[in-house]
Amino acid sequence: MDNIDNNKMLMELASVIDRLEAILGGLQQQEQQSPASLSGGTFSEPAGRLISHWQKLFVVPSEPEASPVQSRLLTELEQQLARLRQGHTRLSGAQQLNGNKLQQVAAQLQQSPFIPAETQARLAKLKHGNEGHEKKLWRLLDCYQTALHLCTEQHSQHQEHYHELCSRLQQLIAEFNFAGEVAIELDKIQRQLSRQTETAQLPGICLRLIELTIEGCRCERKNSTLFLTKLHSNLGEMQHHFAISLSEGQALFDARTHHGQHIAGELRAIGEHLVSQDSEHLKEEIELRMRGISHILVQHERLQEREQSLLKRMNEMDQQIQSLKSETVHFRQQLRAQNEKLFIDSLTQIHNRAGMDARLEIEYRRWLRYQAPLCIALIDIDYFKEINDKYGHLAGDKALRLIARTIQQSLRESDFVARFGGEEFIVLLNNIDPAHLKVPLEKLREQIKNIPFRFKEERVTITASIGATLFRQGDSITSALERTDQALYRAKHAGRDQIVMD
Ligand code: GH3
Ligand code: MG
Ligand code: MG
Repeated sequence: MDNIDNNKMLMELASVIDRLEAILGGLQQQEQQSPASLSGGTFSEPAGRLISHWQKLFVVPSEPEASPVQSRLLTELEQQLARLRQGHTRLSGAQQLNGNKLQQVAAQLQQSPFIPAETQARLAKLKHGNEGHEKKLWRLLDCYQTALHLCTEQHSQHQEHYHELCSRLQQLIAEFNFAGEVAIELDKIQRQLSRQTETAQLPGICLRLIELTIEGCRCERKNSTLFLTKLHSNLGEMQHHFAISLSEGQALFDARTHHGQHIAGELRAIGEHLVSQDSEHLKEEIELRMRGISHILVQHERLQEREQSLLKRMNEMDQQIQSLKSETVHFRQQLRAQNEKLFIDSLTQIHNRAGMDARLEIEYRRWLRYQAPLCIALIDIDYFKEINDKYGHLAGDKALRLIARTIQQSLRESDFVARFGGEEFIVLLNNIDPAHLKVPLEKLREQIKNIPFRFKEERVTITASIGATLFRQGDSITSALERTDQALYRAKHAGRDQIVMD
């Protein structure tokens, strides 16, 4: 939602063009060194995807059906780049127009006294855009190049590089906060990456992610523009009502002042006549003045009617402000959902370190205020390196996911678990009875031990060591964490598969 800056979008495209040219340069070099490997198809599948990707993006009139993409890869790429540049120029023109419109809307919105604070903040954010997508495109292109290398080279560290690339891609996906179709697609790719994906598929996945990033940016721009347009028209109506009410109010005020002076003048004149005139004249004067006063009363009634209609307009304005407010509530909810995503670990789908930091801060402050017992426990899987070495990294990942789920299911609703890093998890147990603290921790240890792992047809038992402590008088978060860490260290040294409380 945040990226509405067309300039940014164009810069992203320009940098994509640069990077594609670099890739093309690389491919040309490669062809000179070894023409056979190119026509042999090593690059043809990802490059073919690249071409169809850009065709889709810029709606280039398609070539006659049987375009020999495979055999004329370099020529095709060059042609596509030329088209890309044309698309870029077209977009620049459109961007200029959109930019002007956007600025008009933003300027008007900012002058408005009726836009709620949250919406103002959101508008400021929209105005400043979001640099993240550009950087992510760069990172994706890096991944794409790495993936191409992985496809062609078979060296000793292949497996390691493969895992590293998969986790880089997963991290990137976790950082995206797109909504709708793009989010669903990203989710699918996330799941595909967490299963064993073939190396040959990785370049294609990178290209799909580039495509989705650009698609996501487009949706964001579209939604943001719709949002602004809607706000703009709401505001237009409000300003119209407000202008009417204001001049109405001013006229009312003037009329009242005038009538007040008029009535005061009439009363003064009656008083003077009472003193100075004889009774005949007095009677005539009083009748005359009474006619004047009843005329004023009629005018007063009219003023009251105008006051009523003014109130009605004020009410209408109030309703519009309410509807604007509920719109901003909706956006706030969306933002909150996106923020929550940042606190989730992509492998295990439980909270990550950042999520734990945030929660620990809350629990700690609650503990300071209410002093209800708060326990912090670190769980470290025993000899986990051996699992990776013996059964492979993917089996290790699978085990971590299962362990995370088991810990989560073993805890109460009010407890909290996060992946502390690697094969370590952290658990916060609040309102716990200190006398029976070991009970839930023992249950946790047992349940991990009882997970029926089966790797390569072999039944494997995985154990965990746990270090735990209760927050004490004078504790800071750091001191409690250090104590927990020392307790865990002692559990390891005492033979593992056990709990040590400090
Ligand atoms: P100890 O009983 O002393 O804790 O032994 P250990 O092997 O568990 O401890 P060590 O710290 O030596 O190794 C931790 C291992 O956890 C090494 C690393 O490869 C593995 N690991 C960390 N993060 C991940 C991950 O995300 N996936 C997989 N598969 N393995 C991971
Ligand atoms: Mg460890
Ligand atoms: Mg360990």
